[in-house]
Amino acid sequence: MSALPLETSGEGLLDQAEYWKRAQSVIPRGASSGHRVGWDQVINRTSGSHVWDGTGKRYVDYLLAWGPIVLGHCDPRVNEAVAKAMSTCDLTGIGPQFGEVEVAEIICTVMPSAERVAFCTSGTDATMHAVHLARAATGRRKIVKFHGSYHGWSDVVAVGSARADSTPTTPMATPNGGGLHPDSIADVIMVEWNDDIAVKQAFADHGHEIAAVFCEPYVHSFGCVPAKEGFLEMLRATCDAHSSVLVFDEVKTGFRSAIGGYQSICGVTPDLTAFGKAVANGFALAGLAGNEVLMGHLGAYTGDRATIDGTYNAAPYALAAARKTLEIMQTEDVFERLYLRGEQVRTGLREAAAEAGAQVSIVGLGSEWAVYFQPTAPTNFREALRSDSAAYARFHEVMVDGGIIQPAFPNGDRRLCAATSQEDVDLTIEVARRAFAASIKM
Ligand code: PMP
Repeated sequence: MSALPLETSGEGLLDQAEYWKRAQSVIPRGASSGHRVGWDQVINRTSGSHVWDGTGKRYVDYLLAWGPIVLGHCDPRVNEAVAKAMSTCDLTGIGPQFGEVEVAEIICTVMPSAERVAFCTSGTDATMHAVHLARAATGRRKIVKFHGSYHGWSDVVAVGSARADSTPTTPMATPNGGGLHPDSIADVIMVEWNDDIAVKQAFADHGHEIAAVFCEPYVHSFGCVPAKEGFLEMLRATCDAHSSVLVFDEVKTGFRSAIGGYQSICGVTPDLTAFGKAVANGFALAGLAGNEVLMGHLGAYTGDRATIDGTYNAAPYALAAARKTLEIMQTEDVFERLYLRGEQVRTGLREAAAEAGAQVSIVGLGSEWAVYFQPTAPTNFREALRSDSAAYARFHEVMVDGGIIQPAFPNGDRRLCAATSQEDVDLTIEVARRAFAASIKM
């Protein structure tokens, strides 16, 4: 038994091993999301760019809950807006929810594909509705998606996304986990990212059956892998030629690579955008944005419309968080800071790796980056799987020990927030020097 008091929240010390034990006795594997298992830490305090574990140790956080925290943890301006919303008007289930119109209006202003917006609660929700909407609008069943890209957990989009046990020889169209409908594979045409020949072949063989092409326009599912030149334009033209819906999954890039998403950077406008995460700085808000005609196929409880319906869709407190987050993005130098610090980290890490003689490839955009333990940057999922996991594990151990939280696996993306300081970056590079040196030890 530990002498430390057991606390469930706040700033106090907490016996982490004991807390994990309690967690495992009431929650399968101890945490309600697969990627959370495997850490020793239990975090019970967050602020700005930092998190603290149960021993009181402070970390610079580069997971940031896998993306939502874009301004910083517990941003007081966002939290104040949420508190106000909660004490003014909470969920009603009647008409547009309070604050829904204002956030939709901002998104229609900043995001090129957005003429209409509908809200739900998670990225999984949004991509599931995107599949239904594309099918309802086209009367077709199949989707084209890219190997390794993660779009959440509904059966069809979960086919072929990055699995913990993926290897370069795992078949591309494998359901990502038990319990997913194996027949979903029949509705998916799986293509390696950046393989334009395979996309064209898919349309030559099945063009009249393809409802939609799903892609992350800048892939973060296996690190940071941009589209090669002309690839997104080719997807746009091919979808146009076959009257298929081009869906950009901007759950990670939306409101992070730019306020208008990666589509506002690359200049290719999809028919439909799935967004979530950074839109509300940590509150549960996601949605679909698209043109008026396509979004007109959304509805409720009719045979020819794609139902969008959810008790917590467009919750006023999440909308208040989004409105404040977007207002801060529109009036402050959020993206300048994200891009400046991101570049500082990437440059510093490259120098630290070169000093240590570690063979790595550090790539990224704006606030996001990936550290691949391989000499050249991957252009698709199979190449990203070649990142040396043993070297990464040695690197990771020293980073976490030195107070840097980052993904625990070798092809994960990481990100900073607007609260990440010069001091955080300097500490990161200092620890990385030791971590890269440790990575090459036999
Ligand atoms: N799409 C992408 C690109 C994602 O990265 C994620 C989550 N990491 C999702 C969809 C699913 O979002 P959520 O976890 O909110 O369901």
